[in-house]
Amino acid sequence: MPARHPSGGPRVSTDPERAAAALIAGSLVALPTETVYGLAAVASDRTAVARVFEVKRRPADHPLIVHVDSLASARQWVLAFPEPAAALARRYWPGPLTLVLPRAPWVPDEVTGGQPTVALRVPDHPLTARVLELVGEGLAGPCGVVAPSANAFGRVSPTSAADVMASLGGRLGPADLILDGGDCRVGLESTIVDASGGELRVLRPGAVLVDSATGQPGDGEVAVLPRVPGSHSAHYAPAAEVVIASGEELLAASASPIPEDLGTGLLAPVGIETPVGWIRLASPTDDVEFAAVLYRGLRAADDAGLHRIVVVPPTTGGLLPAILDRLRRAAR
Ligand code: AMP
Ligand code: MG
Repeated sequence: MPARHPSGGPRVSTDPERAAAALIAGSLVALPTETVYGLAAVASDRTAVARVFEVKRRPADHPLIVHVDSLASARQWVLAFPEPAAALARRYWPGPLTLVLPRAPWVPDEVTGGQPTVALRVPDHPLTARVLELVGEGLAGPCGVVAPSANAFGRVSPTSAADVMASLGGRLGPADLILDGGDCRVGLESTIVDASGGELRVLRPGAVLVDSATGQPGDGEVAVLPRVPGSHSAHYAPAAEVVIASGEELLAASASPIPEDLGTGLLAPVGIETPVGWIRLASPTDDVEFAAVLYRGLRAADDAGLHRIVVVPPTTGGLLPAILDRLRRAAR
């Protein structure tokens, strides 16, 4: 028997067949992916999709990413799949890349937020790949599930089944399910590339590094990254205050310690020392490990009741744009 939440909340299982059956029956399933856990519903099931919005308290005009099992399935959701986008799909799918394309006329407005485009991705996780395959076999018509991050809107995305339970366990019912596929490998949301116009445009940086001008793999999206910090709406935010600091700023702060500096957590690359009285949340060795532990660290700070999280981002690496993007939003 799968484990059950004590309050009668969702079941937890490692069985993709159970997960697919729950989705086909119209329930919600938290699915593991290589990026973060998604709260999935069959994309053509309007009632189930409406529940995703309700459970997450997500604004209705916020479009959802449709997760499919293959490029062939993705083609069924679009009017056109321009060659530059298809080349990216062939190269990076399955993987942490979402493509925004002109939608097929039948795609529900609930999925696209009423936009003329649809966002598509083939996630890279063996359990979820199997779920998508089974859902495709079990349902008539184009297969796909919407799967926004399985957390309350605006909060930190979950990177483990336990995170999902902590975030949404109280809002899901006994027919819903959390598919436990372990810790997410990447730990940050997918790169989103808008391929609906003439040229490619990066809407959100992630682990797939695409040069928006050429569509070729690049060394980051630094050119599109610098934004007015205040223009970032609060997102990916823990309850604790997030402060972004450089290694030098941290040194200066620890040189003149604040006496009653209780409740501060530090997430910083290995080699940066923890000021006296602060709680070390993680010591990643590079940008890839930093991305993988970032959300876990933010959650751990909230769990420990800390009121401030100082984050020293790494200074190099291809994941830097994605890490800085999420940190600036978390810091509001
Ligand atoms: P997530 O919050 O990770 O589920 O990602 C959803 C994000 O994908 C949205 O906030 C948009 O930025 C982007 N997105 C999804 N669908 C579309 C679409 N049809 N057109 C443009 N952007 C989209
Ligand atoms: Mg999200």
